[in-house]
Amino acid sequence: MSWDPRQLAMLKEIGVLPWEPRDAGPADEGHPQAPAVEAAPAEAPAQPRQAAAPAIPAAPAAARQTPTQEPPQVPPRTTADPASVAPVAVHARRPTGVEQMDWPALREAVAGCQACKLCNGRRNTVFGVGHEQADWMIVGEAPGEQEDLKGEPFVGQAGKLLDNMLRSLALTRSEAPSTHQVFIANVLKCRPPHNRNPEPEEVAQCEPFLQRQVELVQPKIIVAMGRFAVQSLLRTGEPIGRLRGRVHRYHGVPVIVTYHPAYLLRNLPDKAKAWEDLCLAADTAAAASAG
Ligand code: SF4
Repeated sequence: MSWDPRQLAMLKEIGVLPWEPRDAGPADEGHPQAPAVEAAPAEAPAQPRQAAAPAIPAAPAAARQTPTQEPPQVPPRTTADPASVAPVAVHARRPTGVEQMDWPALREAVAGCQACKLCNGRRNTVFGVGHEQADWMIVGEAPGEQEDLKGEPFVGQAGKLLDNMLRSLALTRSEAPSTHQVFIANVLKCRPPHNRNPEPEEVAQCEPFLQRQVELVQPKIIVAMGRFAVQSLLRTGEPIGRLRGRVHRYHGVPVIVTYHPAYLLRNLPDKAKAWEDLCLAADTAAAASAG
């Protein structure tokens, strides 16, 4: 990746050191070893560059987008606990044929969905935003109050932080080519009341929508942000701290695990880890594009 003057100015502004792709020259001494890759050793990502994390805006008391509390682990389903992976009862009003839907049909299905009780309190469904064939897909957890009002994921302070982090990698949610515009979606499309944690039945009901979004986007990389996104995509109750730094898979797509921006707003020291995660994602995406 080469940086134009505008990007360099932006990186300087948010306190991030620009990094260079592997083919730009020999790797710097002292960079960390490439993390282990799960399930696909042939696609091991390049070494992540160490850099300062993006600046984080001041965190107001009500900055949370979602009810994420990390790193505690309260898995609705975990591969380590067979009892917890028992199928969750499904609601009778789940839309059918989601796995065959195109974008317009999927948007319409989400907009009218009444498959769980979250439909009762929502002001808007939050379908997702971005390029429909984006190389990058960001998966969050659930809409908060501002997302419910606007009908868009990751708004407010957490959204600003996410935008800063993406911009540092020359990515954006705004209109741009598929290599630079991400697609952002949540596990849940409707807001849990009072920002409570998603319930297992709600996640189970909503998952087909996210799965179909991934199938339609066909991203080169998914960044799972927050505990419930990780649990939903990876079917594990492992804490994020133990899942970071390696490449996982969701239906064949590489997945990088990191902290939710709302969590980072309350836990500033972990922003450097999140930046490392994004660098790993960038290297993994670059490897996928080259392969
Ligand atoms: S959260 Fe998902 S499953 Fe529940 S009503 Fe909204 S769109 Fe339907």
